[in-house]
Amino acid sequence: MYCQPLINARTHSCEGIELLLRWHNRRQGWIAPDVFIPLAERQNLIAPLTRFVLSETVRQLPLLPLHNGFHIAINVSASHFHRQEIIKDLQQLWWPADPKPQLIVELTERDALPVVDLHTVAFLHKSGVKLAIDDFGTGHSSLSYLKTLNPDVLKIDKIFTGAIGNDAINATVTDMVISLAQRLNIALVAEGVETAQQATYMRDRGVNALQGYFYARPMPLTDFPLWLDSWQQDSQMPA
Ligand code: C2E
Ligand code: CA
Ligand code: CA
Repeated sequence: MYCQPLINARTHSCEGIELLLRWHNRRQGWIAPDVFIPLAERQNLIAPLTRFVLSETVRQLPLLPLHNGFHIAINVSASHFHRQEIIKDLQQLWWPADPKPQLIVELTERDALPVVDLHTVAFLHKSGVKLAIDDFGTGHSSLSYLKTLNPDVLKIDKIFTGAIGNDAINATVTDMVISLAQRLNIALVAEGVETAQQATYMRDRGVNALQGYFYARPMPLTDFPLWLDSWQQDSQMPA
């Protein structure tokens, strides 16, 4: 299990992490999630995989800041929302942990969002779990989901972050997504921030949090406490 920090655009503090899986296969070496996640989805193995992420996270909670101002984001497939399956797993695996940080469930727009079980979405909201729409802008008819899913967070896809300074059309889409989310009072995260220019652009437009190689590459969860220590020390040093 790997994780990548999210940086508060205003205060520069680390406000949470996203959990990202890596698979090491004995014969084939490291396999990227872009390869094995769609495979797991096709083989009906995605729910067990998410349960693994939840139980591993709970096991490793002592490594992490446990106050409410810190969040853990997990990626959950739309299929796991069926018949409130994810709720049962959270009840069993996540809710008993105490204390625990804020949980954010990231639902990717690649998945067929129209099939998402809206009872599950409502239950998540009621129980204090936040909902983020991942890869926003890459799917289709994104706008209607904003009304039905009522997300707390939109994650601007890295294609749009990468467009800053070199692709006028996609950069215009980025600006529109930002003002849309702000009008609807939805928090924004920019993914794939790789340069200081991109970070400044997003910060100047009021994007709340930044994630990308410019701050940190995904790292094993067990390396995160050390990374956080040095991040906090660096951000306390006079500029
Ligand atoms: P995602 O949720 O959009 O995750 C962000 C991806 O962007 C990660 O790829 C991350 O390593 C990469 N990334 C982060 N910063 C940068 C950057 O500055 N530049 C560039 N070019 N890339 C950056 P990763 O780890 O290969 O994961 C790929 C996708 O696999 C994820 O995309 C997510 O959809 C899926 N995935 C990963 N772990 C899980 C999981 O536990 N469950 C599910 N259902 N899906 C997962
Ligand atoms: Ca994600
Ligand atoms: Ca994403």
